[in-house]
Amino acid sequence: MFFSKNAKTMRIIEELLGDNVRTLRRSNQIVHDKKFIQYPFENDLSKLNEKDLDYCVNTFINNPYEQYKPENMLQFFLATFGEGITNLYLRPYNEKIWKFDPAFMDMQMVGRIPKPPKEDILRSAEGETVDGYIHQLYFKYPKHGGAQTFIHRINERLNEKITIFTNSEVTKLDRVGNSYSVEAGGKTFFADRIVSTMPANILASIYEPADEDIRRTASALRYNSLAILLVNVKENLVGDHFTFMVADKNVIFHRLSRLDFLGADYCIPESCTFMVEITYKKDDLIDNATDSQIIDNVVNGLKSIAFIKAADDINFINIQRFEYAYVVYDKMHRANVNAILNYFSKQGIDLLGRFGAYEYLNMDNVIEQTKSFSNRFAC
Ligand SMILES: Cc1cc2nc3c(=O)[nH]c(=O)nc-3n(C[C@H](O)[C@H](O)[C@H](O)COP(=O)(O)OP(=O)(O)OC[C@H]3O[C@@H](n4cnc5c(N)ncnc54)[C@H](O)[C@@H]3O)c2cc1C
Repeated sequence: MFFSKNAKTMRIIEELLGDNVRTLRRSNQIVHDKKFIQYPFENDLSKLNEKDLDYCVNTFINNPYEQYKPENMLQFFLATFGEGITNLYLRPYNEKIWKFDPAFMDMQMVGRIPKPPKEDILRSAEGETVDGYIHQLYFKYPKHGGAQTFIHRINERLNEKITIFTNSEVTKLDRVGNSYSVEAGGKTFFADRIVSTMPANILASIYEPADEDIRRTASALRYNSLAILLVNVKENLVGDHFTFMVADKNVIFHRLSRLDFLGADYCIPESCTFMVEITYKKDDLIDNATDSQIIDNVVNGLKSIAFIKAADDINFINIQRFEYAYVVYDKMHRANVNAILNYFSKQGIDLLGRFGAYEYLNMDNVIEQTKSFSNRFAC
């Protein structure tokens, strides 16, 4: 999905995608108690059962935590949204996606979320569904070819001017006087300047001059991996929505997206396809589970939230794992990342991108970061 608060960034994206693009309106739902609550949760409270609704409204209006200055993600949720919204949705969902207790995460990702006005919460409790996070309400997506189309377009442009080597893992980086040597894909390259977008922790481990201190700091950087399953089912039982968030801990996945929503090119006729996401950490139970154990769990999860009636509603299901998916903002993130950026900057090496700079960056943020870097670089 392509979106941005910044009109200039959006123009860059649109220009690259050309006429292979359509605009879609988000329809994201939270699956709670076998019902759909429109995302964000606090803007659609009237869909809750009476007990949960009273709990959320009462603890939002009479919130003892709003007096305190929050110092971690969990405290931020409690102070901003109250105990009910936190305990029914924000805490379990965030524990599930981050695989980390929000009490040990800092506020970099959430600190700028505004406190909803009391009137909005009351309107939402009385039955009015209020749209939230407006900058992501509409998004662009290629009509065909998927998000990768965007990368292909950049490649085509760059290939006119530079040579791009792919499938060439960088395995060693060293200093040679004022230059650098890079071993990648069985070849050695020499460079005057290095800009790295590979994960900063890997960079520290392959950078020969790096000392033990910086390697230890880099290995403390936390991240989540992701298993993505493509599940094609016989029938759409969930309506014309796109993304579904599931906070229930008995269900292995935290999010599903119905790919048919993206347009005709993403549909298989007379069926419905979901992309199912499961985060995990190195050596946790999901990392150590076999693909077929994960698949069995996903099928059970789909049944329990009524996205399928029975296992034989599934036409096909496959799984892929991606090691680097999410930067985890644990309480040490800022100090560790600053130390690493500082170290590599002194080595004359620039770190960019989501895992290069080790920040939760979406594509629009990466475009902006890269543009700002190239402007400085050109000076
Ligand atoms: C599940 C998920 C959904 C997302 N959805 C969206 C979305 O809808 N919209 C959006 O804007 N953003 C989305 N993002 C974020 C988006 O994917 C990132 O912002 C973007 O990919 C970051 O680009 P990058 O170039 O920094 O890093 P990457 O795209 O991760 O590229 C880094 C590259 O470095 C390579 N690499 C690693 N190690 C080495 C090595 N040793 N040698 C050589 N190469 C190496 C990797 O193979 C990779 O190709 C999503 C991310 C995830 C995980």
